[in-house]
Amino acid sequence: MNQELERIGEGSGTLASGEIAALAIQAKARKVALWDVLTAERRLSEDAVADALSRWLKVPRVRLDSIGVESAAVKMLTRRLARRHVCLPLRLTPRKLVLAMANPQDDHAIQDVQFASSRRVQPVVAGRTEILNGIEKYYEAATTPATGATIADADVFTALVGEDDVMDLDHTDPSQLPETAPAVHACRRILLAAVEFQASDIHIEPGPEDIRVRLRIDGVLRDYLELPGWMRTPLLSRIKILAKLDIVQQRVPQDGRIKAKTQDIAIDLRVSTLPTQYGEKAVLRVLGSTRAPSLAGLGLSNDEMTLVDAALHQPQGLILVTGPTGSGKSATLYSMLARRQSPDINIVTIEDPIERRLAGASQVQVDDKAGATFARCLRAILRQDPDVIMVGEIRDLETAEIAFQAAMTGHLVLSTLHTNGSVAAVDRLLDLGVKPAMITAVTDLVIAQRLARRICTSCRGPYVPSPAALRKLHMPPNGDELHRGMGCAACAHTGYRGRIGIFEMLRLTPELKELVRRRASEAEMTEVAVRSGTRMLRDDAIAKVKQGLTTVEEVLRVVRIDDDHGPAADGLLQRRRLTGL
Ligand SMILES: [Zn+2]
Repeated sequence: MNQELERIGEGSGTLASGEIAALAIQAKARKVALWDVLTAERRLSEDAVADALSRWLKVPRVRLDSIGVESAAVKMLTRRLARRHVCLPLRLTPRKLVLAMANPQDDHAIQDVQFASSRRVQPVVAGRTEILNGIEKYYEAATTPATGATIADADVFTALVGEDDVMDLDHTDPSQLPETAPAVHACRRILLAAVEFQASDIHIEPGPEDIRVRLRIDGVLRDYLELPGWMRTPLLSRIKILAKLDIVQQRVPQDGRIKAKTQDIAIDLRVSTLPTQYGEKAVLRVLGSTRAPSLAGLGLSNDEMTLVDAALHQPQGLILVTGPTGSGKSATLYSMLARRQSPDINIVTIEDPIERRLAGASQVQVDDKAGATFARCLRAILRQDPDVIMVGEIRDLETAEIAFQAAMTGHLVLSTLHTNGSVAAVDRLLDLGVKPAMITAVTDLVIAQRLARRICTSCRGPYVPSPAALRKLHMPPNGDELHRGMGCAACAHTGYRGRIGIFEMLRLTPELKELVRRRASEAEMTEVAVRSGTRMLRDDAIAKVKQGLTTVEEVLRVVRIDDDHGPAADGLLQRRRLTGL
């Protein structure tokens, strides 16, 4: 294929080899890409630039109007990414993607395309206009699925310092170290990728020789970039400057915040650093600036929605959402608040951190260092005439008692607990020291939840999961037809796009309340809950697998299933008892 492309690419250049060599030396001296120097030479046509790059970089030159472009290759990238990096996929093999690029030295572009396509990129060179025309020709705008937020072609990113103060993310101070410029570039590139691929977290991890950058997308970490080890300090310093942290201090964990924006998107990042054996590691959590999804969008069935609505429209009471970190508890709380919101009620939230802005609500940031703890903020809020209060998390007895008190005295309180199941949440409250009478008096609904990746709707197809996986879920091997995503540009070839909630909704019926009063065992309470119609996490998950919303593998990843016991919840319970969860 190389030879074919090379043959197509042969042509006469308008630049002599000597001239290109001179320009290449110039580029190196000025620390800019050869492409930039060539395109700055006004006398050169795009064709001549492409020819020159081809000869100098020994990259095949292609003419897009005379070669066939495989539609399977085109589908590997979204139109948006192709336009942004001025590139067009031409050929596809299981491991490789041949990519026409205006600037084959653009590592950033290659990196993004490799990340999006899960293929190694083999660059070939073509003229800029040729490629842009090719994109128009081969991508029909309508067939490219929208992936939510776009950063369009503009990748001007600025960091906001304070309210009006804007800091340019590209800003470099000439007096700083020479390695600062690449660090500034890398930092901007990482933030852009996080927006582009809708990552929830960015991990920057120093290793013995290099730095690994990983992005968490739909709950799963993926390798994005490897940077040379010497960038460790400049890159970390850059991030720490943006987050207003102490750059000299490298031996203690620090946390801060970065607010940055492109032309049309603002992102808010919570930054935390941790000293490790190879230097500081930074994790940047991307806080949602988008609107909370609707409850239906989270994956609630109609029955579940009715249950939530009933609890949500009580004048007072407590709704608890439980699950491990990353199970989407706060998204559910935001969605519930958004549903309850109206101009005639006062909604106040206490959070750590404030993950999303909620229009029309007063949001309070907990600050333990300054003494603004959950409990203290909650007391203050109660003097502010609230109707609905959201407490980010109940971590201690003090917060729990004020929250329960509030729920008894005319307020609707929403909060989260860090437990695996809904029944375990009741156990946890008793363990914390909350009196059974308090729990039974105000708790309306306990929701346990997980987030599973949703099958990409653009490439969904039938499949047969492994018998072992089906056995684990206690599903019959020849049951319903099941689905998975085959992989396409819309889902970056993961087969998944977006996530769906898996829920377990426990209503405290009179019978259950009696068990709470007696401090009955979790097993006993679960038995009664199941008998009175509570659908356990696993059963809700199986229902969603059957509906083609997620896969067996994904459910096994996010819902803990005990494989020694039969269906129903007893197995789970035994395990919870053993592990103390
Ligand atoms: Zn797909």
